[in-house]
Amino acid sequence: MSGGSPRRGRAGALLGPLLAAALMGLTGHTVAQPTAAAAQDNPLFSISPLPLQYPPFDRIRDEHFAPALERGMAEQLAEIQAIVDNPAAPSFDNTLVALERSGRLLSRTTTLLFSLLGVDANPARQQLQRDYAARLAAHRDAVQLNPRLFARVDAVYARRDEAAPNAEARRLVERVRLDMVRAGALLDDTQKARMRALNAELATLSARFNQAVLAEVNDSALVVATAEELAGLSPGEIAAAAEAARQRGLPGRYLITLLNTTIQPAEAALHDRALRERLHRASVARGSRGNAHDTTALLARVMSLRQERAALLGHPDHASQVLEDETARTPQAVQALLRRLTPAAVAAARQEAAALQALIDQEQAARQRPGFALQAWDWSYYAEKLRAARYGFDENQLRPYLEIRQVLERGVFFAAEQLYGLRFRRRTDLPVYHEDVWVYDVFDHDGRLLALFIADLYARPTKRGGAWMNAYVRYNALEGTSPVVANHLNVPKPPAGEPTLLTWDEVNTLFHEFGHALHGMFNTSRYPGLDRVPRDFVEYPSQVNEVWAYWPSVLAHYARHHQSGEPMPAELLAKVSRAKRFNQGYMTTSYLASAVLDQRWHRLRAGEVPAAADVMAFEARVLKEEGLDVPVVPPRYRTPYFSHIMGGYAAGYYAYVWSEVLDADTVAWLMARGGLTRENGDALRARLLSRGGSEDAMDLFRQLVGHEPHIEPLLERRGLVLDPR
Ligand SMILES: [Zn+2]
Repeated sequence: MSGGSPRRGRAGALLGPLLAAALMGLTGHTVAQPTAAAAQDNPLFSISPLPLQYPPFDRIRDEHFAPALERGMAEQLAEIQAIVDNPAAPSFDNTLVALERSGRLLSRTTTLLFSLLGVDANPARQQLQRDYAARLAAHRDAVQLNPRLFARVDAVYARRDEAAPNAEARRLVERVRLDMVRAGALLDDTQKARMRALNAELATLSARFNQAVLAEVNDSALVVATAEELAGLSPGEIAAAAEAARQRGLPGRYLITLLNTTIQPAEAALHDRALRERLHRASVARGSRGNAHDTTALLARVMSLRQERAALLGHPDHASQVLEDETARTPQAVQALLRRLTPAAVAAARQEAAALQALIDQEQAARQRPGFALQAWDWSYYAEKLRAARYGFDENQLRPYLEIRQVLERGVFFAAEQLYGLRFRRRTDLPVYHEDVWVYDVFDHDGRLLALFIADLYARPTKRGGAWMNAYVRYNALEGTSPVVANHLNVPKPPAGEPTLLTWDEVNTLFHEFGHALHGMFNTSRYPGLDRVPRDFVEYPSQVNEVWAYWPSVLAHYARHHQSGEPMPAELLAKVSRAKRFNQGYMTTSYLASAVLDQRWHRLRAGEVPAAADVMAFEARVLKEEGLDVPVVPPRYRTPYFSHIMGGYAAGYYAYVWSEVLDADTVAWLMARGGLTRENGDALRARLLSRGGSEDAMDLFRQLVGHEPHIEPLLERRGLVLDPR
């Protein structure tokens, strides 16, 4: 989603899914011994016989994972041993290609386990995560820090101009060597030992953090006694709240379940101001309440360890270590962009706040009630009212036209048909891990099966928050595999028989995540190790894809009334379009607050990391110092439930706005060339979406649009005015 979708872990060239796994966090020491029966019929041991190696979800049982992880690690270590024992001189094929081919069982198993932990967590899988976090981190280190392997890679690197058969191969050599250096391959033995210990503990802590965030969001759901208090919610939402309470063993009551963001959707609708406040306070208190799911101590420890690891590798702080390998290159460059945008965003938010206050004053005076000052829990509620007053519509008028399946098939898919000539066909013969999961064949413009696409769009207590894309199978020219990719959202499930009517934000998120899916499906970089794009670039194509949600011919195709089939009235469409910049000061400010917190946490030096008890005080101090302490505009994620910074977005949450500079510039370029055309689609695919990490990311951008990035289209889109400096 805009400002919040972990896509995939920063897959390392050597150990893609493993590094992702370590980033998500795993841990432990106990090892389940495979029984003879499990070993015989363990479907993880063989490549799936289903189309495109689609996972056999119906045959995989939780007890299959431990034996497959064990065998997978052993197999890869043997493969690495064979590489380093090879008496032949190191060559591209016998070292780099051999390395690329290693670890297939392990990769298959970790991909599946960590995907399922995200979408269908259960105690057995969470136990596996805790048990294997440190072991998998240690396995990764055993490969990355293997001195004989590094010597061979380094030898190929030293003569890469002759040794690599082509430019892409040369890039792979450079990538693999850099990954090993960044993992600590150049450290001495004492330092390597410390590195291994740090990685093991960090993996454990991340797993615990993510599990605590999920437990806390479920634990913080708000119990409401009567339906009357829920006035403002739709009958469907009230029925869903009753059902959620019943499932929680509270029949006759109502449960408002939470999303992981600070602001909860119900805050926009609830008329009862006291209930809005309760809901808001429950949301922002998550993770720092001193209960079993409090994450502040975990977080402080993680920050210390990351600081120490960065120092070991010769960097002043974790942000410097991470950003060196991003298009931003330095924390200073990130800070410059964030600090440039902050005053403009805050000024816009303050103007918006003044307009909301005026609306409150007017309304209270008209009812002859005492006035009150706008608070954080009032913002969405009055913003909806102001939007209705100013633009003549509110969000709820749109929703009957935004039925989930129509938006996906007649909107998201339709745009991809128009741009790339793709065709989609739902199939119901493949097994799924949950009944709400839909699977589609994706056919290329020439009729060839390009990929399988999994749409898993509904929220569940077993699913982590937010929206993301993941690949079960990646394109791999060496192994001849085609992509199986999935999009995940957290759309509340309506009661049985009711249609799922999306919010406009959810529509955008669906287009966004599908942009990631296209990036995965179109990738043709030859080596899996190059199927990686910098974090601050990967949000760029996905954000570009959001533009089609608004595109008139696409909107006209999908936005149809779920009962009558009537198209959304042109007048309503025009209003939606005019209101595009509405509330952008707020949205930008709350996003920037989280982005700045992420940076500042990861720029702490040795001895500067606050104790657990001071985590929230540190957050408050940073927001003040950065000019983002606007109480009515809280950060989109507060530190204790900011899952992004525990995973692949550590020091990387700025990536959304960084990518948006490229995105807005590219959209301007597309518009100037006619927008939704096959010609534009082919250009996007050929120069960007199919290239993966096979070339320098910024070169891909420049080759596509023909110039250096300009910031003006972003400012124009968000209605921001910079200080003339
Ligand atoms: Zn994204």
